[in-house]
Amino acid sequence: MGEVCYIGLGANLNDPIKQLCTALAALAQLPQSRLTAVSSLYHSKPLGPQDQPDFYNAVAELQTELAPLALLDALQAQEQQQGRVRKRHWGERCIDLDILLFGQQQHRCSRLNLPHHELTQRSFTLLPLAEIQPQLVLPSGELLSQLTPAFDGELQRLQHAEYQACCQRLLAR
Ligand code: ADP
Ligand code: MG
Repeated sequence: MGEVCYIGLGANLNDPIKQLCTALAALAQLPQSRLTAVSSLYHSKPLGPQDQPDFYNAVAELQTELAPLALLDALQAQEQQQGRVRKRHWGERCIDLDILLFGQQQHRCSRLNLPHHELTQRSFTLLPLAEIQPQLVLPSGELLSQLTPAFDGELQRLQHAEYQACCQRLLAR
């Protein structure tokens, strides 16, 4: 059904792990879509300003018949719903939902870059993505496995019972 997409989730405010679970539940409810896999929970240092809390990150796999911009609209509506306020570039946020990949589509417009322009530069997107789909080939023809660092000291994979229960519940539906 439709295209296989990967959504990057990040949060560092207002009970961030709960924010990730809320966003994953919303992804599972999107029309014409199915949540098919979710990565482990990761903990990362902020990229931009350092005077903000550390981040929690995850990647979700979604099969969808929505068009890319309709999916972006839905993700931005969900960010709003969760109370996201844009304060500063790479600043704190209670939820960030990015489309990392939308099938093999390549798209450049003012609202949407596919693949996401920083996908290959960030361990907190590459490592969770590789956990879900290690054989992935990017639209550029590059192998995800060749771009993914074996280890990043700044990124920790966490065992978190509540998060794991949330993912299991959502994937069992
Ligand atoms: P960032 O995710 O870079 O920290 P924002 O979440 O504030 O910043 O997004 C800034 C803009 O990036 C959004 O208004 C959106 O239109 C645009 N954008 C471009 N490509 C994508 C993508 N693949 N996924 C999500 N947003 C994207
Ligand atoms: Mg974003």
